Amino acid sequence: MNRVDCVIVGGGMVGAASALSLAQLGLKVTVIERSSPKRFTHDEPFDLRVSAISVASEQLLANLGAWQLIDKSRICPYQRLGVSESDLAYTEFNAASIKQSHLGNIVENRQIQLALWQQCEAHQNIELIVGEEVQSIEQSETHAIVSTADLKIETKLVLAADGGNSFVRKLAGIGTTGWNYDQSAMLINVTTELEQQDITWQQFTPTGPLAMLPMSGQNASLVWYQQREEIKRLAGLSNEELTQLIHQHFPEKLGRVNAVDKGYFPLTRRHANQYRAGRILLLGDAAHSINPLAGQGVNLGFKDVSALAQIIATAIAEGTNWHEEKTLRQYQAARRTDNLMMMSAMDALYATFSNNSPILKVIRNVGLFAAQRTPVLKNKVLEYACGLN
Ligand SMILES: Cc1cc2nc3c(=O)[nH]c(=O)nc-3n(C[C@H](O)[C@H](O)[C@H](O)COP(=O)(O)OP(=O)(O)OC[C@H]3O[C@@H](n4cnc5c(N)ncnc54)[C@H](O)[C@@H]3O)c2cc1C
Repeated sequence: MNRVDCVIVGGGMVGAASALSLAQLGLKVTVIERSSPKRFTHDEPFDLRVSAISVASEQLLANLGAWQLIDKSRICPYQRLGVSESDLAYTEFNAASIKQSHLGNIVENRQIQLALWQQCEAHQNIELIVGEEVQSIEQSETHAIVSTADLKIETKLVLAADGGNSFVRKLAGIGTTGWNYDQSAMLINVTTELEQQDITWQQFTPTGPLAMLPMSGQNASLVWYQQREEIKRLAGLSNEELTQLIHQHFPEKLGRVNAVDKGYFPLTRRHANQYRAGRILLLGDAAHSINPLAGQGVNLGFKDVSALAQIIATAIAEGTNWHEEKTLRQYQAARRTDNLMMMSAMDALYATFSNNSPILKVIRNVGLFAAQRTPVLKNKVLEYACGLN
């Protein structure tokens, strides 16, 4: 039987960041991941799965030594964020207004995961076990035993970072509240006639939002929200046909583009009813799957990681038992309400803007118009979205 301080199930962005955070506190950590991320070759095309990484998340990744390892040619910082419904109702958020050099970065998920893995592989307190899946977890007063087909590991803490369909969450008997939205999100990688941009924007339309996330060089990731059936139809088109439709539906400011890759994802909201069951804690998408509208998903996951590391660091510094119930309970208190608020805010935004009612149209246009002229409120919202308060 192996013995470690913490077993983390799932070595995605959140699981790998948790491993490094806890290893930095001196804990011995085992990560169980069913498949390793594909290695990266310098000139390969951009992946479809990209994330808008907030300034706070960038800081966390830098503290873990991972940000420095990401190829700079795959990171696209942006200084401005535009939200519009029509040309009249437009509001723009700017990094300078909150005294930041940038608001965030668009980065491929795999680049982040690979950089974190590189650090995990080099850390003497971390063991990465790839190709195994957890089969059972038994808990007692003093420890938990995590079993895979080939291994049994005794541990004081189990972190579920195994994503939205978390098996560990099910093993822990933790239920979820949520629903599937009627819409899917189509991700389209395009090459652009415009030079690399310093803005990400989102335009709301009655059939759903359209978004542009800049990528380095003359590249961008477009997100097209539509009814599920319509997205399936769009996904069946050739890149040339899709390019034509993009020019018809996206605002002119996109400029001429060429679709080079596409894929789609169902939109789900799911929130775990608890974040803890005994010695098992849920982090990242295992705890919360959020509408990707404002690109907050993994940023919330990284906030979970920071909060847990802070709680355990404080317990260690105070000489208390870092894995006792009183300490572990603090994690849910620190994170669940914050995540719930963000999920609800995204839903309110989504419901308000994806609606054809003339009254709502007036209200949201007035709202965007007023927001553009209310810098104090705008800056507060912006600081929160950047993870700065
Ligand atoms: C269309 C779309 C756009 C998005 N855009 C953004 C954005 O701009 N910004 C943002 O912050 N977020 C965004 N997100 C959300 C973001 O992608 C997720 O929040 C993030 O990937 C969650 O990371 P995670 O590590 O918690 O889970 P995952 O990425 O799902 O990783 C889970 C890991 O666990 C492993 N695993 C699963 N089950 C097991 C098992 N039984 N045993 C062992 N290993 C297992 C998997 O192989 C995987 O590696 C977007 C999501 C979607 C769908």
